[in-house]
Amino acid sequence: MRKKRIALLGSTGSIGTQALSVIRRHPERFEATVLTAGSNADLLIAQAIEFGPDAVVIADESRYAQVKDALSDRPIKVYAGAEALCQVVESQQVDMVLAAMVGFAGLKPTLCALRAGKAVALANKETLVVAGELVTACAMEHHVPLLPVDSEHSAIFQCLQGEVGNPVEKLLLTASGGPFRKFTAAQLADVTPAQALCHPQWSMGAKITIDSASMLNKGFEMIEARWLFGLPVERIEVVVHPESIVHSAVAFADGAVKAQLGVPDMCLPIQYAFAYPQRLADGAAPLDLFALGALHFERPNEHLFPCLTLAREASQRGGNAPCVLNAAGEVTNQAFRDGRIRFVDMPDLMARTMAKVPFEATPSLDTYFATDAEARAVCESMIG
Ligand code: NDP
Ligand code: MG
Repeated sequence: MRKKRIALLGSTGSIGTQALSVIRRHPERFEATVLTAGSNADLLIAQAIEFGPDAVVIADESRYAQVKDALSDRPIKVYAGAEALCQVVESQQVDMVLAAMVGFAGLKPTLCALRAGKAVALANKETLVVAGELVTACAMEHHVPLLPVDSEHSAIFQCLQGEVGNPVEKLLLTASGGPFRKFTAAQLADVTPAQALCHPQWSMGAKITIDSASMLNKGFEMIEARWLFGLPVERIEVVVHPESIVHSAVAFADGAVKAQLGVPDMCLPIQYAFAYPQRLADGAAPLDLFALGALHFERPNEHLFPCLTLAREASQRGGNAPCVLNAAGEVTNQAFRDGRIRFVDMPDLMARTMAKVPFEATPSLDTYFATDAEARAVCESMIG
């Protein structure tokens, strides 16, 4: 069997490093042929030395010389800059692309991969939030699979295996509730970035960890599910489940509910996307139901976490509305981490940005880029 040759966009991040650990565990099946980073040259160099890819890209051009010098005695092509990300995914040396960059920056390389006919394992949910219609249409047009890596969407995808044509009533999207699940409005007003960066169940990159604490991440996941599985957001129900054992579920028309359970470990959904439709050994640690004893479920509190409402409204509005929400989400997330705004200011600024940026009902790719830039500028100017 020929090895699957994988390009990892964002190999130095939380998903990227876990994806490399999956490849390390299954060297007979997978090979990392492209590795890319934003600016972490040291880790990219170490990864390139270990995995011997065909090419690496460092998006930050000021780090090019460092990477080039460090790999000069190896047969590894070294590129820099955002444009190179698009070129490397089109390479003949690539069968599948793991989209694991963070934010809007991942949209263009993901589209390039789909247009080049590469299967995409998608972690970078922002690409579907911003341009879900365009991205899913592109995958269809080029007859390439878009395989979910986000744990909830992987769970739903796993539940839907063998159910082609069977009517789905709704999707049950589970959420841990984050570190502030039991907080009051008064307590939420004073939370610090350090508190928000302490997720109770998952260890992830900084941006998604903050989005999880505000539940914007779950709002984004509703939109992501809407595009991946073709159900409107009204039929996607968020269920707070603090143990993060049930990764999501599908309710069918006959009353049956299928769920996927497992310990919280991203290596399983990453490996499932890489090996699909096969299941391989060594995914995640075994699940011990006796040690767990009980699982809990509750409704989300949308008064306390209005990002859920904002995301649902943006999805219902359609057009460029989710793109505006995403841009404002990225700006406010960074501003909160930098100590420039409070946690509770984030949804307020997102709502005000959404009210200010003109609506476009049928955006093109260029419209998304223009909307993203405008929404960032509007949101930044409100932060001051
Ligand atoms: P990280 O911040 O840990 O990693 C992001 C990766 O993208 C890094 O390799 C980073 O490089 C690179 N990168 C960032 N900005 C750019 C840029 N402008 N150009 C090129 N490369 C860039 O994020 P995560 O791994 O946590 O998340 C990645 C994606 O997966 C996100 O969309 C997130 O929502 C999604 N996801 C993550 C989960 C998780 O468990 N972490 C779970 C489900 C989804 P560098 O290291 O040099 O900065
Ligand atoms: Mg998720």
